[in-house]
Amino acid sequence: MEVIIFNKGKHSISKLRLNINSFVPLVFQNFRPMKRLLFLCVIFSFVIDALGGQVVTPGDSIHVNHYDIHLTYVDMNAQEFTAETTIQLTTLVDNLTAIPLELMELTVDSVYLDGEKVSDFSHVGQELVIPCPVSMVSGAEYTVKVWYHGQPFHENWGGFHWGGDYCFNLGVGFVSQPHNLGKAWFPCVDDFTDRATYDIKATVGEGYSAISGGTLISKTSDVSKNVTWHWHIEHPIPTYLASITIGLYELYSDSYQGLERDIPVEIWARPSEINNVEASFIHLHEVMDLFEEKFGPYPFEKIGYSGTAIGAMEHAGNIAYPHFAINGNLSYESLWVHELSHMWFGDMVTCHEAEEMWVNEGWGKYCENYYTEEIYDYETYIGQMNDINKEVLQYVHTVSGDGGYFALDGVPQDVTYGMTSYEKGSLIIHTFRNYLGDDVFFEAARHYLDEYSFDDASSEELRDAFAESSGVNLDGF
Ligand SMILES: [Zn+2]
Repeated sequence: MEVIIFNKGKHSISKLRLNINSFVPLVFQNFRPMKRLLFLCVIFSFVIDALGGQVVTPGDSIHVNHYDIHLTYVDMNAQEFTAETTIQLTTLVDNLTAIPLELMELTVDSVYLDGEKVSDFSHVGQELVIPCPVSMVSGAEYTVKVWYHGQPFHENWGGFHWGGDYCFNLGVGFVSQPHNLGKAWFPCVDDFTDRATYDIKATVGEGYSAISGGTLISKTSDVSKNVTWHWHIEHPIPTYLASITIGLYELYSDSYQGLERDIPVEIWARPSEINNVEASFIHLHEVMDLFEEKFGPYPFEKIGYSGTAIGAMEHAGNIAYPHFAINGNLSYESLWVHELSHMWFGDMVTCHEAEEMWVNEGWGKYCENYYTEEIYDYETYIGQMNDINKEVLQYVHTVSGDGGYFALDGVPQDVTYGMTSYEKGSLIIHTFRNYLGDDVFFEAARHYLDEYSFDDASSEELRDAFAESSGVNLDGF
């Protein structure tokens, strides 16, 4: 993810992820205020008594295999929706007497467990607890269906946002802790490690498009001329990478001839920006050539971007990308490159926990600079890395940066999306590449991606995968 704002005072453009609240009026003036400040800083502790008083989180108790999410009616004016989500899950522990899920703010209307109505579920805060008639054993499979409605949560950046004829989710929030915000729009196990496949559907009014990752299965109209869009995501992803973008979009369609297959390119933009797409993404094929050569075949069904009021966010196969960045020139090129690189680093292989976000964002930041060596020249690339080096040395420990010196691993969650994870992370990868040499480095990167494909990886696992592939002792890393 990456936040871009305009610094109007200097007639220049700044990238900023920190101190974002001071810039909110510039970016969010069209959005309604946050519904509840209470949710600004949620210290989330999912405590249930399902295991004889043990403290457990949903991810400790169950694994979700598949989500079928349907926004059955989206009301753009009221900024609310009705929805149903069916969850196919497997229990992970014995003696489980309740199924724990997470869902923020929305009102649960009814719950079914394996087709039987459950009347005594509880939904307090974010915790949706569904009691079971019999104690569950580990490895058992169940189907839960939840009907719900309401105005979904969003913070300044993250959650489910509305604006005019458009609405969309952003799968993480800067301020919310934990950052994962799948639970802003569907009941789920909301962490970085639980991966599921998805069917995502939305029923919208005539003229609206509803876009997600994966493959479009169908578009069906009802008698009221409402249209249900149905997408299927075959590759398992964590909840924060699931997405929906709804609006009066037009489609820029293309095809990229990849290493293993022809990959659809679908870029959805507002009518006012649709003619800018081709020029802003003029280097897409070249960047894909580079990433596939260095990191392996593109891992998702399609290369997809949707224009959104704020962004950018690397939802798998449907990147939320700011409208203003589709401007017909290359001034934001590094932004779409950054998000594209996340399809490998972040989406196919995800950090194990927020405290090691550099596993996602260090690579994103590195790739948004690395590509310039190929598309432009080495001087551009090395100049940018030197600038980052100087920036980190000067600011990472200050209040303009992360307010302290942190190792890459174990970064506090109030600066998860700060300079340590992004800029310092990218410098470590830059150093890694120079230390190992190009041939060894990129082979090790492919080995790492292959080893943890559609899985999560910790800092130590990344290090060990590189050491294993390169034969170089990286204990000092
Ligand atoms: Zn990113």
